[in-house]
Amino acid sequence: MLETLMSKVRGYIPNDRLRVVVDAYEYAEDAHRGQTRKSGEPFIEHPLQTAVALADLRLDADALAAALLHDVVEDRHDISIEDIRERFGGQVANLVDGVTKFTEAEMAASAGGGGARTVSAQAQAETIRKMLIAMSEDIRVVLIKLADRLHNMRTIRYLPPAKRIEKSKETLDIYAPLAHRLGIWDLKWKLEDMAFQQLNPEEYRSISLRLNSTRRERERYIENAKVILRKELEKAGIGCEVLGRPKSIYSIHCKTAKYALQNKTVDDIHDLFALRVLVDSVQDCYAALGVIHTRWHPVPGEFDDYVANPKDNLYQSIHTTVVAEDVHSVEIQIRTHEMHQLAEYGVAAHWLYKEGDAGDESFDKKVVWLRQIIEGLKDVTEAEEFLESAKKDFFADHIFVYTPLGELKELPAGATPLDFAFRIHTDLIFRCIGAKVNGKLVPLTYQLRNGDTCQILTSKTVRRPSLDWLNKDLGYVKTGSARAKVQQWFKRQERSVNIQRGRDLYRRHIHRLTSLRDERVAALMGIGKLDEFLAQLGDGSLSVAHVVNKLSSREKEAKDEVRHQQELGMPISSSAGIEVLGVGDLLTSVARCCNPISGDKIIGFVTRAKGVTIHRLSCPNILHEDEPERLVPVSWGSRTEVRYPVRIQVKSMDRVGLLGDITSLVSAEKVNITSCVSEEYDDVSIITLTMHVSGTDQLSRLFFDLDSVKGVMSVRRTNL
Ligand code: MN
Repeated sequence: MLETLMSKVRGYIPNDRLRVVVDAYEYAEDAHRGQTRKSGEPFIEHPLQTAVALADLRLDADALAAALLHDVVEDRHDISIEDIRERFGGQVANLVDGVTKFTEAEMAASAGGGGARTVSAQAQAETIRKMLIAMSEDIRVVLIKLADRLHNMRTIRYLPPAKRIEKSKETLDIYAPLAHRLGIWDLKWKLEDMAFQQLNPEEYRSISLRLNSTRRERERYIENAKVILRKELEKAGIGCEVLGRPKSIYSIHCKTAKYALQNKTVDDIHDLFALRVLVDSVQDCYAALGVIHTRWHPVPGEFDDYVANPKDNLYQSIHTTVVAEDVHSVEIQIRTHEMHQLAEYGVAAHWLYKEGDAGDESFDKKVVWLRQIIEGLKDVTEAEEFLESAKKDFFADHIFVYTPLGELKELPAGATPLDFAFRIHTDLIFRCIGAKVNGKLVPLTYQLRNGDTCQILTSKTVRRPSLDWLNKDLGYVKTGSARAKVQQWFKRQERSVNIQRGRDLYRRHIHRLTSLRDERVAALMGIGKLDEFLAQLGDGSLSVAHVVNKLSSREKEAKDEVRHQQELGMPISSSAGIEVLGVGDLLTSVARCCNPISGDKIIGFVTRAKGVTIHRLSCPNILHEDEPERLVPVSWGSRTEVRYPVRIQVKSMDRVGLLGDITSLVSAEKVNITSCVSEEYDDVSIITLTMHVSGTDQLSRLFFDLDSVKGVMSVRRTNL
């Protein structure tokens, strides 16, 4: 049995290191003697297969030994990590220790979820956290864990159904994305396909049947394309190897699902074609690309150059999709042999031939991004928030952005300059005062795009972050780790400071919108104590936008109530919504004799003292009116919605044209001003406006506009 492993290992591990692998095998076989797996095989088969998978990735002797020993300490209580350290050395012992801790976290996770049920968020968060920490210490721990999972998935049919589902979900949620992030594609696809087969057996069968039934046609087509491609490249003097590339069942499933969402249909085999071109040099990559695009039409938007912009997980390749021979689109990957090796082995390639060599500094630099993400995540304390952050920061779609010095940073899609600043140095976020993208100033909410160069403009000193950064709707910060850092800043402030900040926010943004007392607004938000309400506003756990929304939905309810009364035929209390044609804004009131309601045919009567009263056209009082010259045509008008009278006060530096600026702004919002009083004190002028607005949201918009008028110092609502 050991021979399977040794035949793979002899090719690349130096002879003097083979001994430790054999030793570890014998030690493990002895330790697990008499133990069997659910499949009935001797237990040693499991650590052995784990080591074989790692040998395929060409991992070093210490990692293989640790893989062989990975279950020993856990299964044999009489063998400790110290025993392993004594016999196999510190490296092997640390790796085994890491894997064991990892496994303990995993078991705790399953136990927390009751085994058969889905793992609780708390437990899953804990697993990921331990995993990330173990990984930041030594990536080989995770590689061993991935190989361990691979063999467990291969033998999953021996587990009860509920356990199978649980393990498969975990594999798809955590392990496959992890393999992806580490660039070990081969392992990723295997894990995905096996998990998918358990979770969605019907779909799995249907796709594999489709693959089989089209196999002959596909092979003929691909063979033909290969021949043409090889000939063209040879003609151009490019030495190459052209390979057909199998696509995984799970990746086809994802593509079909994506197309279905976009309402696009795929002809059945469209996505099943793939080719790979291996060449000798980077220069040849681009030369080959030129040849391919000359011969076959590229599909727009389906091009990625990871040769010029390698991924942080070291992956390099040119991806293009072309329509080959005017029939099918074919995905083609172009890379050098060296890049190919990296693409196959991912970070594991680091250990290739490394045995006995000095450490690889450039590699350490390249996995710095990993450590940074993990560092950032350490600050997130809530389990669910941690999980959300980890998923977003670690497993989401990523973009690549350059620093001005040409260094690449990887960020989740949708990240902003603040996220970028955080990624460069976690404290830089507190010195950021602006950003330039590709040489141009951008707002801090700018969403970075793949290939952008971003420069962070900084102040010399640390500045107070803005609470707006925590508001998800405003889009300043995308990554959970950066948001946690900002949140932490506010939480660490004294409560009194938070209350004061909350009070300022309240005065500036909320108080002026409502006539409710402050305590009532707090109560509306479900907070009994005003101080607590202000503290929450001040530390960012409650956002201004949230409070404003609550206030305006409350007003909307009140308005609906009025409208409801109108529909019921109750008299309306104001003249709201009535236009008197040709007379301008006269005082109107509804006649009590006939109580017209919205939709009735109406006519106005000009009274001597109360302006115009509105009657139904059929009202007997009107029919018998002996002064017909006092009747005026009226209509319900187009604005039948209810409007609220409000009074606001604008305090401003006095200047020529101020009043005009303000009133034209107000009418631009389509708000009618019913009165306007202006008073001057020295250089300051106070303008009091009475007007009708449709609600709090409109008033809020208006305040926002008025704030930006030149000279305006404050705007607030006053009592009517
Ligand atoms: Mn195991």
